[in-house]
Amino acid sequence: MPVKTPITIAYGDGIGPEIMAATLKILTAAKADIEPEVIEIGQKVYLEGFTSGIPDAAWESLIRTKVLLKGPITTPQGGGYKSLNVTLRKTLGLYANVRPNVAYAPFVHTNHPKMDLVIIRENEEGTYAGIEHRQTDEVYQCLKIVTRPGCERIVHYAFEYARKFNRKKVTCLTKDNIMKMTDGIFHQVFNEIATQYPDIQNEHLIIDIGTALVAAEPERFDVIVTSNLYGDILSDVAAQIAGSVGLAGSANVGNQMAMFEAIHGSAPDIAGKKMANPSGLLNAAIQMLIHINQPKVAALIENAWLTTLEDGLHTGDIYSKEHSKKKVNTDEFADAVIERLGRNPTHFKTVEYKETKTNIECLGESKKPMAKKELVGIDIFVDNPNMTPEQLGEKVATITGPLKLIVITSRGLKIWPNCMIQAPFAQHCSCRFQTSVDTKNLSTVTHMDLIHLLQQFELLGLDVIKTENLYTFDGKIGYSLAQGQ
Ligand code: NAD
Repeated sequence: MPVKTPITIAYGDGIGPEIMAATLKILTAAKADIEPEVIEIGQKVYLEGFTSGIPDAAWESLIRTKVLLKGPITTPQGGGYKSLNVTLRKTLGLYANVRPNVAYAPFVHTNHPKMDLVIIRENEEGTYAGIEHRQTDEVYQCLKIVTRPGCERIVHYAFEYARKFNRKKVTCLTKDNIMKMTDGIFHQVFNEIATQYPDIQNEHLIIDIGTALVAAEPERFDVIVTSNLYGDILSDVAAQIAGSVGLAGSANVGNQMAMFEAIHGSAPDIAGKKMANPSGLLNAAIQMLIHINQPKVAALIENAWLTTLEDGLHTGDIYSKEHSKKKVNTDEFADAVIERLGRNPTHFKTVEYKETKTNIECLGESKKPMAKKELVGIDIFVDNPNMTPEQLGEKVATITGPLKLIVITSRGLKIWPNCMIQAPFAQHCSCRFQTSVDTKNLSTVTHMDLIHLLQQFELLGLDVIKTENLYTFDGKIGYSLAQGQ
């Protein structure tokens, strides 16, 4: 008797329990060698007072099994608890979110019958770090955190994935024409790592035209690697044009652990009605079986699932008179897949997966000499409800010391000196201090110089809401210039 692989199961909220029951029924019928351990997470747990949405006992199971198959979780919008999904991804170090999007024409309606792409989304960084502050009565901020090791890991993962699954091209999507540093480092790392994979084509596109092309010509893409927020949005677009958000599964992968889930949410509008398509979660479970090295069961289930689609037994989300034979509910769909275990599709290519002893592991810590970092100034943000930019500039320019006021900005736009616009938003201002206007000719300063500067802001009665130190790295400035500076 083979040893069964323990896996942690979370049914989740909304349609979660229905699609998980259907999926587990199929896994059992296919004789997957798994030992499910059920944990409780999500809404019920939030209501019991665990603000993280996950109780301690559930962590214990996860850390032991290292594999989680998870139903969708309802996350409050706007306020309330932090997203449990994001907590799980970050706490478990699940840095890569792998989202295949495949068209199943002519059995599922799509305008893109040849579409077959995989989105590899960075899963821990960017704006999803969720670091937000309200700084003034009217101003809110979300920090976008991007690290070089984080970029290296995800880009490496994308190329390794392409190689492992015989894909030909990796496309990187960023907005580095605007966010030259955060998206810039992602693009730069992509260019560096691409050279290590001469067998795989590479290209970079700006995210806006990239998204437009995914929507219009998805067939031109193979593997896409992108950052957290872009990848999240793009993969729903891709899933929808492939046929339905109800079809796509996703893997959240780290070096130690992995979590598998459908890409869709808890669909409260159809919860409890047995209407949900379990295919997204089933496809996630197929990825899980490959991950735990049960490729034969994965292929057995996928071939039966493809045969079910070919036979026209479709849940409501993909049902159409033109493409379907019968509309089935969640349980009927699961039973139809079970009945077809052992059959191979006739239209689609029969799926085969190879045994792999190891999963992709990317550390993202290329050893580089540390740049020489020098403190050359400070941005001091103030809450300025009353003064015009000119009045504020005049006041702050009286400050003495090695650091001089160079520019005042609001929302990244220069508003002092020589403000060119009539009525700028001036309530949230950043006063930039350097030793010289010329960024090629900066001297270093000390933290005591900065403290002295801040004391003078206090004496002037200005409300400092945040500061950002300005550094050079090997003589190059490590901060953006103001728009119009
Ligand atoms: P959703 O994906 O739940 O639903 C969007 C639409 O798609 C709805 O009309 C729904 O009925 C339909 N749909 C989704 N899955 C389907 C399926 N399997 N079969 C048939 N139709 C399906 O998105 P939403 O309404 O924006 O979000 C609902 C909740 O889910 C929110 O609380 C959100 O935060 C959460 N959510 C969770 C996850 C996750 O757990 N990974 C992901 C996305 C959203």
